[in-house]
This record gives sequence, C-alpha cells and structure tokens, in this order.
Amino acid sequence: MERLTGDTNLYRFEVARGGSLRLNLGQHVVLRGMVNGLEVQRAYTPVNPVNAENYFEVLIKCYKDGLMSQYIKSWREGDVLFWRGPFGGFPYGPNQYGQLLMLASGTGLAPMLPILQYITENEEDETFVTLIGCFVTFENIYMRSLLQDQARYWNVKIFYVLSKEASLEELPWSYRESSHLGRINRDFLRSVLDSCSCVAL
Ligand SMILES: Cc1cc2nc3c(=O)[nH]c(=O)nc-3n(C[C@H](O)[C@H](O)[C@H](O)COP(=O)(O)OP(=O)(O)OC[C@H]3O[C@@H](n4cnc5c(N)ncnc54)[C@H](O)[C@@H]3O)c2cc1C
Repeated sequence: MERLTGDTNLYRFEVARGGSLRLNLGQHVVLRGMVNGLEVQRAYTPVNPVNAENYFEVLIKCYKDGLMSQYIKSWREGDVLFWRGPFGGFPYGPNQYGQLLMLASGTGLAPMLPILQYITENEEDETFVTLIGCFVTFENIYMRSLLQDQARYWNVKIFYVLSKEASLEELPWSYRESSHLGRINRDFLRSVLDSCSCVAL
C-alpha cells in the first residue's frame, strides 16, 4: 500500500496462482467486501499497464462515510481479497485516432493511465494524447511522477486544473506552465484545443 494523498492510496495485489488479469484498456474489476455483516460490491479500475503479469494495482479514494471505504481502511498487508472481472473497457487500437483528449477528475484518472502507457510503450503508435487532470491542489495530483514521465513523450501533453490551489507561483517550475487554477471552463478548453495538433476547429 502506498499513500498518495490524505484519503487515497495505491494498492498492489498479487494475482492468485501467479496468473494475469488479462485486462483490456479501461476495464474495471469488482471488489467484494463485508461491512457490519452486509455484503458490498464496488468497481475499481486497475492503473497498471494492461500486460502486467502476476499483479494489478488500484488507486482508491476512501470516503468518510463510504461503506466499502470502511472495509478498505481495515486492510493490512498480506490480506486476501475477493475480486471478479475484468469488465467494461474502452475500444482502442493503435493509430485508430489522430488525437485523444482525456478529461479526468480525481480518481477518474485511473482508466486513463493504462491507455496512456499503452500508447507511449508502442513506438509504432503515433496517436497524440492530451490529458487534462483535475485535482483540488498540487499535493492532490495522483501519480505525479508517472504523469511527468509520460508528459516527456513527444506525443503527450498533460495539463493540471487545480480548483483550490492558491497561486501558480507556489508550484514547482516544471508544473507552472501546464497548470491552470480554477475549473475547466470554455476558455481553458478552447486554449487546450487550440494547442492540439490534429483538431479541426
Ligand atoms: C466503473 C467504475 C470504476 C471505478 N473506479 C474507481 C477507482 O479506480 N478508484 C476509486 O476510488 N473509485 C472508483 N470507482 C468508485 C467506487 O466504485 C465507489 O463508488 C467508491 O469507492 C465509494 O464507495 P463506498 O462504498 O466507500 O462509498 P458509498 O457507501 O457508496 O458512498 C459514496 C458517497 O456517498 C457518501 N455517503 C454514504 N452514505 C451517506 C449518507 N447516509 N448520507 C450522505 N452521504 C453518504 C459517502 O461519504 C461517499 O461520499 C469506480 C466506479 C465505477 C462505477
């Protein structure tokens, strides 16, 4: 378990019998938990590359009064948990689109990460990706170093929209140009679209 922010952790699981989840892009898995004698099921989206063997990782935000959140807060390293799936997914093929624009808020970042990594790991895939990630503050940006690594690829741009950050001057240099204070609005989206490579306006 790795703490990402005050209420969100990254959890890594070993798959039973050394198997793989055989994930497709954007798929989620369903966790079963028991809370006060009640069975609860909730969906979570693995953030690891889809070809990961023997393990998967989920990024989970815990809510103060959330049912599954209570169960998750009780986890200790080495616990055995019950998942089913994977389900759902986004149909995506290399070079199928000229450009992908991803808008993600908070844990909504999760399904974007495997897609992003799938594209950047494939040198033949020339799809441009623009990811706009919305978070409360700079400290609340999930998986910051992974995102910054991804942003170094020639075909990836990442913008951060921070709703409660006081000023851009407080941010590290490398984030100032790519960050925007407030929320996504028409003007911001317009400026991002203007900077996209293959969008006909
Ligand atoms: C396809 C899919 C993928 C998902 N992937 C992820 C993921 O990768 N990571 C992730 O963190 N989440 C993900 N989610 C969300 C996740 O499934 C849960 O909804 C989330 O973890 C909250 O579950 P919970 O049981 O803890 O909260 P719940 O008990 O369902 O409560 C949800 C909210 O309601 C509030 N609430 C509960 N009871 C009350 C009450 N009596 N009065 C007022 N408010 C109340 C809680 O505080 C909380 O804010 C995904 C959801 C879907 C559908």
